[in-house]
Amino acid sequence: MGEQTKYLLDESRIPKRWYNIQADLPKPMAPVLHPGTMQPVGPDDLAPLFPMALIMQEVTTEREIDIPEPVREIYRLWRPAPLFRAHRLEKALGTPAKIFYKYEGVSPAGSHKPNTAVAQAFYNREAGIKRLTTETGAGQWGSSLSFAGALFGIDVTVFQVRVSYDQKPYRRALMESYGARCLPSPSTETEYGRSVLAKRPDHPGSLGIAISEAVEIAAKNDDTKYALGSVLNHVLLHQTIVGLESMEQMKMADAWPDVIVGCTGGGSNFAGIAFPFIGEGLRGGAKPRIVAVEPAACPSLTRGKFAYDFGDTGHMTPLTKMHTLGSTFTPPGFHAGGLRYHGMAPLVSHLKDLELIEATAYHQRECFAAGIAFARAEGILPAPEANHAVKGAIEEALRCKREGRSETILFNLCGHGHFDMAAYMAYTAGTLTDQSYSEEELAMALAGLPSVPEPA
Ligand SMILES: *Cc1c(COP(=O)(O)O)cnc(C)c1O
Repeated sequence: MGEQTKYLLDESRIPKRWYNIQADLPKPMAPVLHPGTMQPVGPDDLAPLFPMALIMQEVTTEREIDIPEPVREIYRLWRPAPLFRAHRLEKALGTPAKIFYKYEGVSPAGSHKPNTAVAQAFYNREAGIKRLTTETGAGQWGSSLSFAGALFGIDVTVFQVRVSYDQKPYRRALMESYGARCLPSPSTETEYGRSVLAKRPDHPGSLGIAISEAVEIAAKNDDTKYALGSVLNHVLLHQTIVGLESMEQMKMADAWPDVIVGCTGGGSNFAGIAFPFIGEGLRGGAKPRIVAVEPAACPSLTRGKFAYDFGDTGHMTPLTKMHTLGSTFTPPGFHAGGLRYHGMAPLVSHLKDLELIEATAYHQRECFAAGIAFARAEGILPAPEANHAVKGAIEEALRCKREGRSETILFNLCGHGHFDMAAYMAYTAGTLTDQSYSEEELAMALAGLPSVPEPA
């Protein structure tokens, strides 16, 4: 027998509490502002969109939040998720580094997203909500919320970004199998969708537009609330279960990460694996380097501005301070649909601003090459989004090789790519191209950021 490959925890070891990094921040976050008054929003301002339990999780500075038992009960369907040591990838790269990955593709939807979908569906059902609306890019979030809605008896309406709706019919079929209704966005069902289509009938859509549509429906209906799959503090909170389990598993492996890598769309899977480790560092413990990897075609952390902006394109959401490319920016239609968002989670942005994390960007082809190298060594074919984390981890391992250092690298393999074979086929056929965004559109979108008076 060789060295151990897989680190498994018993069901009873599913964490009982999520970790809230707001308790350990060296400097508090900038407040969320009402776009009309430019004053901080209160819980009541958000009540049309979210149940109060989730609104309170947005703002609390308590370090640990209990995971409700019915949520843990559903987590048992796939959690604890396995942690692997990538011996074969290490050998293929000839690196002295130790590479570990946490695999979130074992969930029913195939990614980390059910970790928050199940929690959000639970709190909405407790509040008596009958329907949830949401947006989805690649379809990962839509299928996760559809799954969670089915288990808690809540109807789910999903606005799927047009380009993904066309590219990924199987994700839609999965959502519909779980009983959800799925519409291409921009759609004719909302005022905002109709206004976008009037200007550009062939609009490819964007997460920003789909969010506006989902928010519009929730705001207009009392029995309907909105669910977001990333970005918000409570979503990142729910995802910390990934890092908390990883900590236990790294202890089993008698190792500890020097570097942690995650891909960033809205920032939730990255936060999930990284925040518990960052928190430990903030409380005086080990401080691993933390590396966020984003697509070069939608580079909010590396090329965006840290400024107040809307979370959606139709300007129905409050203003949050985050790294943004501008809410009117439409990223090109590259294949990691889950990473096509103009902004970044305010918490992740705040940590970047405090220089507690690093960020890098890669083009999609080099990420697919990394994903395929990973599959040939480790067997799992990553989601196109996850390929960015694989690429980041491989770059760190190659740096260790050049420097002759045997560092320990941990990354989040946040999902599998079984619904993304069209993208892999395009890559193999050589028709997948590296997309660049329009610099002109970026400049325009950034010039259009809302102007917010400096706090007194
Ligand atoms: C949604 C998704 C992402 C991007 O969202 P984050 O909030 O940044 O995690 C990344 N990977 C996969 C597999 C996804 O489904």
